[in-house]
Amino acid sequence: MWFKMINENFICENCGFEVTKHPEGSARNHCPNCLYSKHLDQDFPGDRASDCGGIMQPVGIDHKKNKWNMIRHRCIKCKKEILNKVAPDDNFLDFVKKVNKM
Ligand SMILES: [Zn+2]
Ligand SMILES: [Zn+2]
Repeated sequence: MWFKMINENFICENCGFEVTKHPEGSARNHCPNCLYSKHLDQDFPGDRASDCGGIMQPVGIDHKKNKWNMIRHRCIKCKKEILNKVAPDDNFLDFVKKVNKM
């Protein structure tokens, strides 16, 4: 199992990065190196109700009012989109530069 609600280490299926625990103890749901995620949630982040298991590609950034930046992930298998919170150690600035070039 790649992601679980508990905070633990895992190997990223996209870039092979060895992902360590979330610095603030929150559940990690994407790779801080390439920002790819995996489709495990059905209706909201953390419900782990989906059995899709497809790789989720970071495709954009959302800015919610009074909230932290959100990464928009799209499943390459079923095309579902889910918003995820940016972790403090994410390689987020590189991603912003990439998105701005899209
Ligand atoms: Zn990765
Ligand atoms: Zn999916």
